[in-house]
Amino acid sequence: MNQHSLLAAATVGVLLSVGTAHADGVVIEHVTLLDGTHAPQPDMTVATDGERIVAVTPSALEHGLEGRRIDGRGRYLMPGLMDVHIHLRGGFDPGPTPDAEPGPPNRREGVEALASFLYAGVTTVLDVGNRPEHILPLRADERAGRILAPRILATGNLITYPGSHGDRVALRISDFEKDKALLDKHIAAQQPDVLKLTLEEEGWGSRPMIPLMPLDLLAKIIRYYNLHGIRTTVHVSSELRSLEAIYAGSDTLAHPVIQGPVSDSFVRLMAAKKTPFASTLTIGDNYNRLVEHPEYLDQPLYVASFSPAERTRLKTRTREEWKSRTWTAWMKVMNPIAAENVRKVHAAGGVAACGTDQSSGAATQRELELLAEAGIAPLEVIRIATFNSAVFLGKADQLGSIETGKLADLVLLGRDPTADINNAKAIVFVMKGGRIIDESQLPLAGGKQQRRLAL
Ligand SMILES: [Zn+2]
Repeated sequence: MNQHSLLAAATVGVLLSVGTAHADGVVIEHVTLLDGTHAPQPDMTVATDGERIVAVTPSALEHGLEGRRIDGRGRYLMPGLMDVHIHLRGGFDPGPTPDAEPGPPNRREGVEALASFLYAGVTTVLDVGNRPEHILPLRADERAGRILAPRILATGNLITYPGSHGDRVALRISDFEKDKALLDKHIAAQQPDVLKLTLEEEGWGSRPMIPLMPLDLLAKIIRYYNLHGIRTTVHVSSELRSLEAIYAGSDTLAHPVIQGPVSDSFVRLMAAKKTPFASTLTIGDNYNRLVEHPEYLDQPLYVASFSPAERTRLKTRTREEWKSRTWTAWMKVMNPIAAENVRKVHAAGGVAACGTDQSSGAATQRELELLAEAGIAPLEVIRIATFNSAVFLGKADQLGSIETGKLADLVLLGRDPTADINNAKAIVFVMKGGRIIDESQLPLAGGKQQRRLAL
């Protein structure tokens, strides 16, 4: 389908797309549609052609759509899930000794983690800080169709003030004029899809104070990237720094407020301003979950996402380490507060997006569980993990909902996720860009998985 007919299809919908559908299209009929923005719509038909959705219509009105027919009776179709805060695995492999420089990136680990996202129904990820030599070649491979992976957006190196949060994978910028060449090089060489900055002095939980980026510098860097057409996100964890980042011009926030309960005025501001923020509840939940409920690692998505050796290591060595960490105890107290902050801002009309600060499809599905546990209705959780996340990325014109003209990133489910968010794991198939993913080809760390629900 060419640009012209695509535009026409988007305008007149079903009628024109009938004439332009090709044999490589898929027609999912009689399905309950969860389109990412509206209430569930029963008995709908959704057709794809090439990489796009070309028709969304009540089945009773459909006639003549061409393509492979799939019976959607008793099934649910939602947009592909998104995770807008990951750090892809394989970038931070420790060196041979704890003090040594990190080893080279582990590409295999990265490829396996990417496969786990697709397996879990995640069709778009944003990596918000990694070693560029790890994430950027994988992004290029995904775009060229050389690997089975979700759409990869990446910040490359994040940017921080010398000694501030995220130093490990950051370009250190201390003076806008003096360091401008570094910014130009970052933009030209890494082509960040989004710029990630940090505004964090730590000094909370069990952490000592570190330097903080001056606000005028933050604002100048944000403006510079915006002038290059690049959206921005800022790591923050407190209400004060969130406000400062928003008024320095940041397009999004990389976390909710974690350090304490939000004020009513902050909730009102987030609802008025509609600055999208990544929910990132899974990272804080993870420590106590491993200590108290290590059996979660035996759930099918974790078995698929991690190698048996890795799951054993998590259950033994990592669990022992985390048991005695002050941070674990701290997050047990603070994570429910962060969850309530997310719920409040969402309920008031703010824009929560789905992010985990982790690196597996199993974690993204866990984020959905935690959002539902926070008191957000499952249908709203799906909106957060689809449409709102596309808004976060500035890609809601292409992704995030099931509409004529958009990219065909879809997940067909065998059970109703609005009745129980765990049913978002009852996957019949995942489609990315109009192609149904062949699960048997996914290079999962857990090896070949048993086929799930039959098509
Ligand atoms: Zn992060």
